Amino acid sequence: MRGGLSKEELMEDLARRVAECRRCPLFKHRRRVVVGEGNLNALVMFVGEAPGYYEDLKGRPFVGAAGRVLDRLLEEMGLRREEVYIGNVVKCRPPGNRDPREEEIEACSPYLDEQLEIIKPRVIVPLGRFSTRYVMTKFGLRPAPISRIHGRPYEASSPYGPVIVFPFYHPAVALYKKGMEEALFEDARRLRAVLSERGYI
Ligand code: SF4
Repeated sequence: MRGGLSKEELMEDLARRVAECRRCPLFKHRRRVVVGEGNLNALVMFVGEAPGYYEDLKGRPFVGAAGRVLDRLLEEMGLRREEVYIGNVVKCRPPGNRDPREEEIEACSPYLDEQLEIIKPRVIVPLGRFSTRYVMTKFGLRPAPISRIHGRPYEASSPYGPVIVFPFYHPAVALYKKGMEEALFEDARRLRAVLSERGYI
């Protein structure tokens, strides 16, 4: 690893920098930054959009109602939280849970890039339209509306080898949009089939 540092040391260094970060105005509103958590050798990495109320309170990703949906989706995929890594494109909560702005994503995404370099996941699952657009673009894939591209594997290459990008709707849609829960669970079953085909589960 870089400078002979372990993955744990690299992630700790990143977490220290994020905790002090003032690159964009969101630092003014945060109670805690949400760097991400999970297995640093994860084959599958989930990328949410930004912390919400409970995430900001606890400093952990997906711990509110959307997090409970994600836990059920993980189960459907044949995965456990301990074996995956969960992060966000933006590490501080936007006020009132508004969508992250372009300039905030631009300011914060280098931290996500570092996390991807440290973890080197084989499968990247962006959750929601903002993270899908960021991840697809980063890996040279053509971004498109999430309603068209969710639930399918897209092969791409990364500096550490081939990767699959598998876009998902944001788990929160199951909470406020009728019929979306079934769509999410159908995508979870499709992802499970892809993971199983590749011997990842
Ligand atoms: S959202 Fe990201 S770039 Fe903005 S202050 Fe927080 S850590 Fe820094």
